[in-house]
Amino acid sequence: MIVPAYPPHEARGIWVFLEQDDGILAPVSLELLARARELASESGAELTGLLAGGDIPATETEAAGLDLDRVVSVSHPLLAQFTAEAYAYAVAQVILEQKPDMFLLGATAYGRDLAGRLAVILRTGLTADCTGLALESGTGLLLGEVSGFGGGVVATIRCENHRPQMATVRPGVFPEPVLTPRPKASVVRMVVDIPAHRRPVHVVDRRHRAGVDISRAERLVVAGAGARGHMDGIEALAVALGAEIGATRVAVDEGWATRERQIGQTGVIARPKVAVVCGASGASQFTVGIEQAGLVVAVNQDAEAPIFEQADLCVVDDVSPVIHALVAELQSHAGGAS
Ligand SMILES: Cc1cc2nc3c(=O)[nH]c(=O)nc-3n(C[C@H](O)[C@H](O)[C@H](O)COP(=O)(O)OP(=O)(O)OC[C@H]3O[C@@H](n4cnc5c(N)ncnc54)[C@H](O)[C@@H]3O)c2cc1C
Repeated sequence: MIVPAYPPHEARGIWVFLEQDDGILAPVSLELLARARELASESGAELTGLLAGGDIPATETEAAGLDLDRVVSVSHPLLAQFTAEAYAYAVAQVILEQKPDMFLLGATAYGRDLAGRLAVILRTGLTADCTGLALESGTGLLLGEVSGFGGGVVATIRCENHRPQMATVRPGVFPEPVLTPRPKASVVRMVVDIPAHRRPVHVVDRRHRAGVDISRAERLVVAGAGARGHMDGIEALAVALGAEIGATRVAVDEGWATRERQIGQTGVIARPKVAVVCGASGASQFTVGIEQAGLVVAVNQDAEAPIFEQADLCVVDDVSPVIHALVAELQSHAGGAS
């Protein structure tokens, strides 16, 4: 039997990892915070944000203005840039001392790396890539909803005996919160000792790729396999609508769109107000990425295509004439994207 790092009856509060890079908080941390606040209100638990970095006074001030009861801040020169080893070592020290009941992270590149290492160090469970978080009635245990087996199964996972109960949630799963000014949360600075050998990786250089983040796009034109040969039309429609281009995995695998534009289970969870989905069948691994969309317009030549079950407006036709008609119509209106 694996002995818990600390017993459930000693664990207190809901904690959210406030991921930051160069002092800028990751949007997913704010999304997570809003859901964590709902869970904290439901259970009466205290809500704490954990901030880690090099020299982060400005980020501490920003974090203190969020909807938190408390900010715990850890700064150390070896945390100035994210390395999984140093962060896991430092965050584990804080967790072992403070004993949170739940510890939630964004499923970003950093968050995933950190969460997995923490789960091993702390000998606890990790529900990764949750599509929902809730509390079990009666026990108050954290319930993490995840989809498995290619989206065919939705499982609810809980961690009964080990603490903290840990989960990661992908960007876009929870809505972006509306930030309102509120009384400052208290900031508790904790000192951690990180021996140099705990950071075996040295960051020599960092380059930011100028990519797109379609999880925040208000409008999307999505290319599926049925858009084969019509990417010019998809681009023209995106321009006319003032939209970003999204894609199914087939379209990405075919090289018509870059990987960062893939929507779905292994891509991005998007929340556009409008999505025009062109030539996608509507596989569950895809639709999970647009189920939070406002208006979904689907164009497919097959009247039986499952995408029509998700769509608000269904157009049974070949994508090409529909795209051209839409572009012409939009262009006939002043500004095109109104
Ligand atoms: C573990 C796992 C994870 C996955 N993750 C993802 C993911 O994140 N995102 C994702 O998209 N997929 C994902 N997939 C793949 C997914 O199962 C589907 O294979 C994929 O979404 C299908 O893409 P599609 O709809 O573009 O293609 P298809 O299923 O081939 O559908 C093409 C559709 O276009 C229509 N069509 C064809 N020609 C035209 C035309 N000229 N005009 C109008 N309609 C036309 C057809 O009727 C058909 O419905 C995943 C699969 C697995 C197993």
